[in-house]
Amino acid sequence: MAGFADYVACPRCGRPYPERAFANSRMSSFMTPLHICPACGDLEAWRDHAGWPPVPPREWPVDPDELGREYALMIRASRSGQMQEMRVEELEDE
Ligand SMILES: [Zn+2]
Repeated sequence: MAGFADYVACPRCGRPYPERAFANSRMSSFMTPLHICPACGDLEAWRDHAGWPPVPPREWPVDPDELGREYALMIRASRSGQMQEMRVEELEDE
């Protein structure tokens, strides 16, 4: 089990996450890689999938109400079976 020292605050949502489990933000650039928590990595992917514009880093941490909208989007998508569909697409991108 990871110790407390292994946790860092996610710059996008502000919640702590295990540092080694980071995701690369879609807002990363070649010069400035941005590490976010795995949950935010999924949320960014879902925004993109739904055609919502990304939340730029200057607006981070994302407003909790907005994070709630993103989670609702992700949950609805997973219930309707779109989750599986997108996982396949994501894998093909890599
Ligand atoms: Zn996060």
